Amino acid sequence: MYFPSDHARHIFEESPRDSRDAICKLCKSTVSFESFAYYCRECRSHFHKDCLTIINAKIHEHTLTFIRRENPFPCDVCGRDDKGMDMYGCLQCDFFVHRQCIFLPKVIKLTRHSQRLSHVFRISDGDNICGVCRSQVDVRYGGYSCIEKTCNYVVHSSCIIRFDVWDGKDLEEEPEPEEIDSQVDLAALVEIDGKSVRHFSHEHDLLRLDMGEKEESGQVCQACVLPIEFGSFLGCKQCDFALHDVCASLPRKMEHGIHIHPLTIHVDAMNNENGFFTCSVCNQHSCGFMYKCCQEDCEFKIDVKCASFAEPFDHSVKVALNLQDLQQNVTKDAGFPWSSNA
Ligand SMILES: [Zn+2]
Ligand SMILES: [Zn+2]
Ligand SMILES: [Zn+2]
Ligand SMILES: [Zn+2]
Ligand SMILES: [Zn+2]
Ligand SMILES: [Zn+2]
Ligand SMILES: [Zn+2]
Ligand SMILES: [Zn+2]
Repeated sequence: MYFPSDHARHIFEESPRDSRDAICKLCKSTVSFESFAYYCRECRSHFHKDCLTIINAKIHEHTLTFIRRENPFPCDVCGRDDKGMDMYGCLQCDFFVHRQCIFLPKVIKLTRHSQRLSHVFRISDGDNICGVCRSQVDVRYGGYSCIEKTCNYVVHSSCIIRFDVWDGKDLEEEPEPEEIDSQVDLAALVEIDGKSVRHFSHEHDLLRLDMGEKEESGQVCQACVLPIEFGSFLGCKQCDFALHDVCASLPRKMEHGIHIHPLTIHVDAMNNENGFFTCSVCNQHSCGFMYKCCQEDCEFKIDVKCASFAEPFDHSVKVALNLQDLQQNVTKDAGFPWSSNA
């Protein structure tokens, strides 16, 4: 990807016939026999002729032309000046932009922030800390800012691409999901009367009990599969079903910064092939409640314990999540049985 030091510019010649199963350096798709393409001997790269200019890009009104020379100047969209990134320019406007920044989405939704973010060419002045990498966002360059005017959440546009935080969808044309309905769907607990409640995972009413009255119950929480040893919990009168208070209040659907897609709760782990599942974060087996990715082709699943932590444990990208960034009130401090201050 990076230019060798003796390669300050691409020198184009016609693409050799015998290598026409090659990949275009710019669009990453195949250079077929029929397509007209150039070849640079120095870096052994192929270029579709059609990829050298980009017309009708949403980001700029004029044709953008591929810069064949090494480019030590910053991109006007993301502000980064990495050598070796494919760059395009419009001379009459003195506008230079990375290829990857030409196709940035207009409106996105990240699981680490409750509102949608929209792309802006200038971030408004102020103390702007990127919600992904936690470093300053340069106000001269654009980025993504929360659509809620009172919220100052911002993200570098380069962080959207560099880190695995965005699901790849541009929501510009998509209406916001209706909020009232989803709130009802999220509730796991329904109050029956002052004393009893119903949890969606269980067929009987549950009572609010306190360990003080019922020492050494020997009961295990069905959600986190840890013993119920202290504090109040929900217990079934008719069978030995029990849940920690905090585990019973976990939402049926959540967005967690640890994964790019929303997660939905599954309470029937015992019906799995093996009677357990393996948590994608801690790699431990669990037969409790499972939060699984709502995308059919995505295998991400986590146990209740990992879903309750606001910070990723062993993420491929080491980023510190801001606790307030997370919608759900399920943090380390929420009094979970495994948290230090519970
Ligand atoms: Zn070259
Ligand atoms: Zn191409
Ligand atoms: Zn850029
Ligand atoms: Zn950033
Ligand atoms: Zn529990
Ligand atoms: Zn029961
Ligand atoms: Zn886990
Ligand atoms: Zn997923």
